This record gives sequence, structure tokens and C-alpha cells, in this order.
Amino acid sequence: MHIWKKKTREEIKSRIFNALNENTDYFGDRSLGVPGSHLDSKVFPEDAPFLTDAPFMATLLHNPNHIGCHTQGVSESFFKGTQDIERELLEVCAVDILNADEKAIDGYVASGGTEANMQAIWIYRNYYQDKYKAQNDEIAIISSEDSHYSMAKASNILSLAYYRVKVDFNSRLINADNIQEVIDQAKKDGKKYFIIIANMMTTMFGSVDPIDLYADVMEENKLPYKLHVDGAYGGFFFPFAHKNHALDFRNPKVTSVTLDAHKMLQAPYGTGLFLVRKEWMQYANTKADYVEGDDFTMIGSRSGANAIAIWMILMTYGPYGMREKIFILSKRADWFTHKLDELKIEYYRSESSNIITMKAEGITAQTAKKYGLVPDVHHQPKWYKVVIMEHVTIEKLEPLIEDLKN
Ligand SMILES: *Cc1c(COP(=O)(O)O)cnc(C)c1O
Repeated sequence: MHIWKKKTREEIKSRIFNALNENTDYFGDRSLGVPGSHLDSKVFPEDAPFLTDAPFMATLLHNPNHIGCHTQGVSESFFKGTQDIERELLEVCAVDILNADEKAIDGYVASGGTEANMQAIWIYRNYYQDKYKAQNDEIAIISSEDSHYSMAKASNILSLAYYRVKVDFNSRLINADNIQEVIDQAKKDGKKYFIIIANMMTTMFGSVDPIDLYADVMEENKLPYKLHVDGAYGGFFFPFAHKNHALDFRNPKVTSVTLDAHKMLQAPYGTGLFLVRKEWMQYANTKADYVEGDDFTMIGSRSGANAIAIWMILMTYGPYGMREKIFILSKRADWFTHKLDELKIEYYRSESSNIITMKAEGITAQTAKKYGLVPDVHHQPKWYKVVIMEHVTIEKLEPLIEDLKN
């Protein structure tokens, strides 16, 4: 099962430079008809000496275009070397992080979590239209009110109604009654087909949805639904902190998952990941005349360097290194919550999570500003959060604790 193995710097370097050599790229003489090129060599000279030691930068310069989806069917042949690394990266995420069977998942590196969530909703909307002859106004998106605003964006762009399930103020949990009320309302509004987004850690609270509740209520109501997991924040954290859970591909009810390497993984922006069970990408096929193998993605042209960056991070750490990194962040968060307990400052923290969301009472706006704490809403906030990332060390947290004491 475990295809994810830690690699040395040398191994990583040689794999990437070999992949660039396999690409028929713009530095060669067989790409005369492609509407793209390497980065402008007056501005970004390709003979800068450090590049031989910098595979990511070198890939940026070569500028491979990963347009399309490369886990299925035919792909643009010009960039097959680096596409191969993208395929391996997706397989590692699907199998080793999200516990899918081997070769059971399609996907691509998206611009971010927003696009990956939208791609999921787009696929399910088209599926309902195709299989059930559903009208747009019969399809609804459902997620908790703590969900990311990309759901509202998708609702607007794809012309689908969006219903938000309430959460309890202190536990941040949805409950079955809430879901039932929302379903009743949606049914009254003529909705028959449902697209549900469950959170694997929300952006503001790090809270995790009890995904079975959604499935149970939908099944009791005998309503068609598709289930997508939004792991844009938690996808590279939660699976390393929790072994047994229902938010990955072990759960047959989960059809797709969003991950975001530019959050917890510290990859450059443009590194969202969309992963979906085989046979589902087809619902997003737009016949792209000039792209070899059509296009099944929202984005169109996209940089192959983004896939390289994510792959490099995962291969540098390996599965145990990543677990260790997450463990350290979680322990630092423990330290912080112990201090808050001593100060009797109330907060929300999901088990092992690295987001600590403090109740705003007793925290002045100046303190929040001084430490860059992020509020739930900017006008009269009820909560402020601290996110324990690599740069949020105990040394940097100590002065905040001192200020909170006063
Ligand atoms: C950040 C985030 C998103 C959106 O991701 P972008 O990469 O900013 O587009 C979606 N969902 C959750 C839970 C997030 O934390």
C-alpha cells in the first residue's frame, strides 16, 4: 500500500531533471506550434548557475503547462515527464494520505481549495443533470455555516441554491435536527438533488464535521446526495493526527476530497488538489479542441512547477517526517492551551488541532492587532484565532500570553 517513501535531495533532484528532459519543452526544437514558451530569458536567464541545484526554480523556468487531467485517458504529450510526477503525487495523496485503493482515484493540481471545491460541485451538478435530467433549481449545496466561503462562490457561479446547517456556538458541531430542518426547507423550495460538503477542519475553528450524520439523514429521507470532503485546511494535518475517521476514501460514501498544499504544507500558492473516484471526472469534460485528450478541469493552463513543489515537499519529509512535523505543531498547540487554561481564557480547539480559537471577550483589539490574531468577522468579532504553523514558535507565543495576562 505504501508508495510514499522519503527521498534524499540527490534523488529528488535527479528525478526532476530527468522529468524535464523527458518533456519536449521549449528549449528543444519540437515545440513550434505550442502557444507557450519558457520564461522570458532576458528577465529570467536559464544559465543562472544556482539553477542546476534548484529543481523547482528550473521547472518554473522551463514552464511546463499541465493543462488537462493526467490520471485518465490521453494527455498532452509535450510535458509527459513532469506530468508523470504529478500523477505520482496524486497517487500518494489518494493512497497514503486518504487511504484509497491503488489506481482508484483521478485528480489534478488545482489553483487552490476554492477551485477544487468548485470542481466537485460542478461535477455533481452535471451528473444530476445528465443522469436525472435535473434542472439547476432542483439541485442544492449543503454545508455547515462554518464552511469556507468558496461554497457560496460555487453556488453563485454554478447557479445552485446553497443551504447552511447551523452549528452549536461552543462545540461548533452540526446535529441531525439541524440537517433535517435544512432538508425540509430545501424540499419545500423544490430541491430534489443534494451536494453535501463536509469539513475536515474548518478555516476558523479547525472543527471537523460528523460526516455520518449527513449520510444518515439523507438516507432516512431517501434523497439522492453526493458527498465531498473539504480538506483544504485540514487535508495535510488531520490524517496525520488521526488514524481512524470517516473523512477519506475508506468511506464509500465519500466521492471526492479537496486538499491544499499551500496551507499546511507550505507550498507556493497555486497548489490545491482535487481528488475524485474514477468514473467521475467525465462529468466535467469540455471538449477542448486544441488540447490532446480534452480537458476535465476548471482551470485550463496551469504550471507544472506547482505539482513539482508539492511532490518535493512530500518526498523530502516522507510519511514519518510529516507525521513528526504535525506532531510538533500539535504539541505546541497543547502548550498554548495549557497557558490559556491557567489564564481562564475560553477557547475552542478540535482534538489535536493546531488552530486555537479564543473567545473575544477579554482580548482587546490592540492585542489582536499587535499579534495578527484573525477574527471570525471584522465587525464586532466573537472569536480570535491563533494558527500554530512552523513560524509560530513558543518564543513568539510567550509575549502574547504575557499581554493576555494583563
Ligand atoms: C483555504 C480554504 C479554502 C479555499 O482555499 P484557497 O486555496 O484559498 O482557494 C477552502 N476550504 C477551506 C476549509 C479552507 O481553509
